[in-house]
Amino acid sequence: MTIFVTLARRTEIYSKSFIPSSVALWNDLSNEMKESHSLNIFKSNLKRLFKPPVVPEYFYTGMRKFTVYHARIRNHCSNLNADLYLNHLRDSPTCQCGYRSENAEHFLLIVIYFRLLENILCSQH
Ligand SMILES: [Zn+2]
Repeated sequence: MTIFVTLARRTEIYSKSFIPSSVALWNDLSNEMKESHSLNIFKSNLKRLFKPPVVPEYFYTGMRKFTVYHARIRNHCSNLNADLYLNHLRDSPTCQCGYRSENAEHFLLIVIYFRLLENILCSQH
């Protein structure tokens, strides 16, 4: 069986980086796991050992389109100016209305509210 030795490390950040942490994980595996006869057997043994988390059913409910929008907003990857600014794709996070940041809160609570109000007022004339 193969045991790897970790190199001396100077910083805590490096000890948590990929190679040292991978070496530590490999060395902690049982001999049975390390001596798997094929990659597929190794992978199935890993799945049995670590049991990947079950994805909750509510992740699959609702319309996919809105789930994608929700995920983009939560991960700051939407087309809102604040997210575009955060991702270095806009020069400013300001909203078209002049508010300092077109973020999710401003968009969902203020912009949509005023658009609905505008539609109601326009439909009355
Ligand atoms: Zn605005």
